Amino acid sequence: MYPFTFTKAAGTREAIDAARRGGRYIAGGTTLVDLMRETVERPETLIDIAGLPLREITVTARGALRIGALALMADAAAHPKVRTTYPVISQALELSASPQLRNMATIGGNIMQRTRCTYFRDVSAACNKRRPGSGCSALEGVNRTHAILGTSGECVATHPSDVAVAFAALEATVHLLGPDGERSVAFADFLLPPGTTPDREQNLRPGELITAVEIPAHPRPLKSGYLKVRDRQSYEFALTSAAVALHLRAGVIREAKVAAGGVGTVPWKLPAVERHLVGRRPSDALWAAAAAALAADGARPLTHNRFKVELLKRTVERQLRIVGGTA
Ligand code: SF4
Repeated sequence: MYPFTFTKAAGTREAIDAARRGGRYIAGGTTLVDLMRETVERPETLIDIAGLPLREITVTARGALRIGALALMADAAAHPKVRTTYPVISQALELSASPQLRNMATIGGNIMQRTRCTYFRDVSAACNKRRPGSGCSALEGVNRTHAILGTSGECVATHPSDVAVAFAALEATVHLLGPDGERSVAFADFLLPPGTTPDREQNLRPGELITAVEIPAHPRPLKSGYLKVRDRQSYEFALTSAAVALHLRAGVIREAKVAAGGVGTVPWKLPAVERHLVGRRPSDALWAAAAAALAADGARPLTHNRFKVELLKRTVERQLRIVGGTA
C-alpha cells in the first residue's frame, strides 16, 4: 500500500466538493481497496461517504422503487418490496459475492465495480483500460471469461455486476448529484461500452455522486427471476446470466424484459428477444426459438470463449422457461 489521505464527508455537498478537487468516493470499499493494494488504482484522496443519508429503500409517490446508492446489497436483497415485486433484483444480489461482502458492499459501489479481467489487475500487463494506449493483453491472451458482445479492438472485458443485469432488464434510472445539481440517466446509458476509450466506464461528470437507482413503476405486475451460470456454485462471477421479467394475461405475454450478463462489456439488454415474445403464448418452443435465433445476435467470440455463444442461448431459454411457467 502507498500513502493517501482519508477524509470523512460531513455531508453530501462537502463530499461533492472534495471529489471535484480530485478525491475518490469510497463506501464499502470492497473493490477499491483491493485495487489499491494491487496498485491498479492509486487515488491520493479517499472521501468516505458511508455515513451519508443515502441508504433508504422507498416506494415513490408514483410507485417507483427507489434504492439509495448506499443501501447495502444484503439489505436491498432482503427488503420486502424488492423481494415481492422484483425478485430478479433479490436473486441477482444473493447470487453475488459472499454474505460478508454483501453486508459491506453498496448498490452504488456494485454498479461502479471494475472488471475482473486478470490483465487489468496485473500491473505488468498491457491494458488499455488501466493504461490507455498500452494495448489489450486479452485479445491474444487467455480470454475464456471475456465478452462476446459490445467489444472493441481496444477492450473485451465483461462488466462483472449481477444486479446491473437486473437493472438493465427493468430499465432502471440512475440518479446523480454533482457540482451542477441533480440529473438522471437511463441505466442503458450509464455504463459505457469500451469503444476507443475503455478507461471511461460510466456516464459521470467530475464530482458526480450516485444517489439512487430507481425502478419505474410497472402498472402490470411482472413475474421475474435471475439465473447465473458459473464455474462453481458460489463466490464466482457469471460465465453467462439472464434476468427475465414477464407479464402474462389471459395466457398471452403482454410484456417482456430480458437482459444477459457475463457476455457483454456492459449488461446486455435483448430487445429482439423481448419483441419476439410479446403477443405470443408461452411454450417451450417459443422460448427455444427466441433464444436460439436472437439471444446471441451480433456476438463476436474470441479464441477461448466460443462456448459462451451456445451457453448464452441456453441460459436465456432456461430462464424464460422458469419465469414463463413451463419449466
Ligand atoms: Fe485491459 Fe480490457 Fe484488455 Fe482486459 S480486456 S486487458 S481490461 S483492455
